[in-house]
Amino acid sequence: MKILVVNAGSSSLKYQLFDMTTNEVLAKGLCERIGIDGIITHKRPSNPDYKANVAFPDHKAAIECVLALLTDKEKGVIADVSEISAVGHRFAHGGEKLTKSAILGDQELEYLESIVGLNPLHGPPAISGLKACKEVMPSVNHVGVFDTSYYSGMEDYAYIYPIPYELYEKHKIRRYGFHGTSHRYVAAKAAEYLGNKDAKIITCHLGNGSSITATVNGKAVDTSMGFTPQDGVPMGTRSGAIDPTVVTFLQKAEGLTAAEADNLLNKQSGLAGISGFGSDCRDIRDAAAAGNYRAQLAMKILCHNIKKIVGSYIAEMNGVDAIVFTAGIGENDRDLREEVCKDMSFLGIEVDAQINQTCPRGEFADVTAKGAKVKTLVIPTNEEYMIALDTLNLTK
Ligand code: ADP
Repeated sequence: MKILVVNAGSSSLKYQLFDMTTNEVLAKGLCERIGIDGIITHKRPSNPDYKANVAFPDHKAAIECVLALLTDKEKGVIADVSEISAVGHRFAHGGEKLTKSAILGDQELEYLESIVGLNPLHGPPAISGLKACKEVMPSVNHVGVFDTSYYSGMEDYAYIYPIPYELYEKHKIRRYGFHGTSHRYVAAKAAEYLGNKDAKIITCHLGNGSSITATVNGKAVDTSMGFTPQDGVPMGTRSGAIDPTVVTFLQKAEGLTAAEADNLLNKQSGLAGISGFGSDCRDIRDAAAAGNYRAQLAMKILCHNIKKIVGSYIAEMNGVDAIVFTAGIGENDRDLREEVCKDMSFLGIEVDAQINQTCPRGEFADVTAKGAKVKTLVIPTNEEYMIALDTLNLTK
């Protein structure tokens, strides 16, 4: 069975075509500058990348171009679109109702449209992408996989905020959690490695956006992102958790509108805001190594906050069996893994410095020090595969 995975953003559309019998990615790519002009990058294993300017007035034009390339005699990987059995769509938000991956019929689409207020950045383009794909591929099932659904089983005391309860009822303000598909994937891989499906696992997804999740017995019990992806650890340009009064103080002191305050916390804060060296962790590491105080401080604040959340989840779960690092920073920044796990030997957490510094990038690695009770693992994430797998399971 061949499954197409689509991740539509406001001006981009990413795709991957999986052969689920062999678990291979047959082709993948990215349509950019949708609604502006249009560029497509199309990749196939063992072939040079293909890049072309194509006019993409909307998502429909982009997906039509993707299907034309996938079936192209030279650049394609399938003979006909009918070989695609189903399409999996990534959605950041499934609200309170879409608590697991689902085939997206009219009712589900209506519900997704009703919750765009909770998800104004990702919701509308993901819906446009879905509608375009349904129009172009009307005879197959379209499945939605929601970042939030991994958290739908959390206890009420873990997701209700201590503000007037009526506001939860009226506006559905609560912790939703994000990156769930990534956390679900790496937590399952870790449990498989431990040979213990009941394991207590803390997964640290540290990329441009970062979140930490506690999983027990395959179910998320807590997570650092909240009502929006703004909560939790500092990120590339997002502040993560701060005293909420800072926002209202700044609005008054700097005369900021709500949108300007939002922009400041989402786009100008985090590692970029502290360091002044932009949001890319590699640049900040370089500046820190060259002795720049603010770059060093940014990395210290990041590690301090990760450690704090990891510690709180160990307390919450009454222990931990594995700590997993994933995504761009988690998979690549060896020093960060060491710093986060430093001075936690009293909890049974200890990293083998040599293995941690030399393990191959982009691969599973067990970097646990000999004798340490808790496993420290590096597991490359694969959200697209998880989306393809859910799509397969719902449609086969
Ligand atoms: P996204 O959230 O956009 O998917 P990624 O998971 O790709 O992001 O992570 C991007 C982050 O990973 C960037 O901050 C980048 O600097 C960081 N990163 C990538 N490689 C390294 C590395 N070798 N060392 C430190 N950070 C790295």
